[in-house]
Amino acid sequence: MNPQVDPVELTRALVRMNTVNRDGQGDETPCIEHLAALLRPAGFACRIVEFAPRRASLVARLGGDPARPALAFTGHVDVVPLGAAPWRHDPFGAEIVDGKLYGRGSSDMKSGVAAFVAAVLAEADAIAAGAGVVLIVTAGEESGCEGAIDVARRPELNEMLANVGALVVAEPTGNRPLAAHKGALWLRARASGTTAHGSMPERGDNAIYKLAPALLALRDFDFGVAEHALMGRPTLNVGLIQGGLNINSVPDAAHFTLDIRTVAGQDHAALRQRLQTLLGPQIALEDVLDTASVFTDPQHPWMRFVTELCTPGEAPGSVAYFTDAAILRARLDDAPTVILGPGEAHMAHQTDEYCLVERIVAATGFYRRILADWRTRA
Ligand SMILES: [Zn+2]
Repeated sequence: MNPQVDPVELTRALVRMNTVNRDGQGDETPCIEHLAALLRPAGFACRIVEFAPRRASLVARLGGDPARPALAFTGHVDVVPLGAAPWRHDPFGAEIVDGKLYGRGSSDMKSGVAAFVAAVLAEADAIAAGAGVVLIVTAGEESGCEGAIDVARRPELNEMLANVGALVVAEPTGNRPLAAHKGALWLRARASGTTAHGSMPERGDNAIYKLAPALLALRDFDFGVAEHALMGRPTLNVGLIQGGLNINSVPDAAHFTLDIRTVAGQDHAALRQRLQTLLGPQIALEDVLDTASVFTDPQHPWMRFVTELCTPGEAPGSVAYFTDAAILRARLDDAPTVILGPGEAHMAHQTDEYCLVERIVAATGFYRRILADWRTRA
């Protein structure tokens, strides 16, 4: 007998647990233990791993035939801080008003995690008898995929993560399947010099003067790649610049940051080399974040099935933000990946964040259909 879990009530239970990720501090452990306690009685093998105290991720697998590839689901249970504006609904109250479930993480993305956990529990007997299922529920996604990076690095998870045939990322898409998201290459460009009194600049070596021309050279940077049919063009933004100490000293250090979003087919190492050549030898580039883009051919048979199931007659979309899939996909042998979840993308990180209750129910149904289809496909 399959255990029955109501995905809406599970979303509410998860929202009531405060898992705010603030400057890399947080506590995802209660959420992770709650989920493991639901999954274990259904036969799931559960491994809880921590990348820091109280920062736990969960990998759960329900057997099935080891010769057949498993279907994987992933989601994160950390949430972003509440922001400065006051909330009209308690951010940890999980109130339902007019079909909207309010709370931090309701859209991004505890509803998605709750929906796939409810779906696999409802299908547990069939999963155990057929191709298996792997769940990867991470901590620390919002601060740079820390939990996913930790999971991907652990050799003790090799067996649980082996032989995965496809991956569903339950990030908020309003139940619309996405076949791609951009990669991210974040860099810091530094110039250094020698300080001196501001009244005697000839005795110093001004780091800002070295940085400025390098920065301006980036304004019209040409990536030299054609527009991607689904993902569009790569982008580059200089988001922060810092240098100097005060008005009357020659600055001996200055830096700016680059936020580059790439499309499928771009080689980050080659791009970094091109930027270094353009910026010149006086600029040192440091790595801040490097996550690959995710792209699955919209014509892939499984992608076509998922798209037709959720949005008949439409093509899958693409987004600019990145997800844990950028890290996990390489660990899962580049399995075909769809981003599909009940949350509202425009509600992510907002004040009075909510998720539509009907979408949580619908997502659970979609995930069950995807699981049922997988038994015939794998
Ligand atoms: Zn998210």
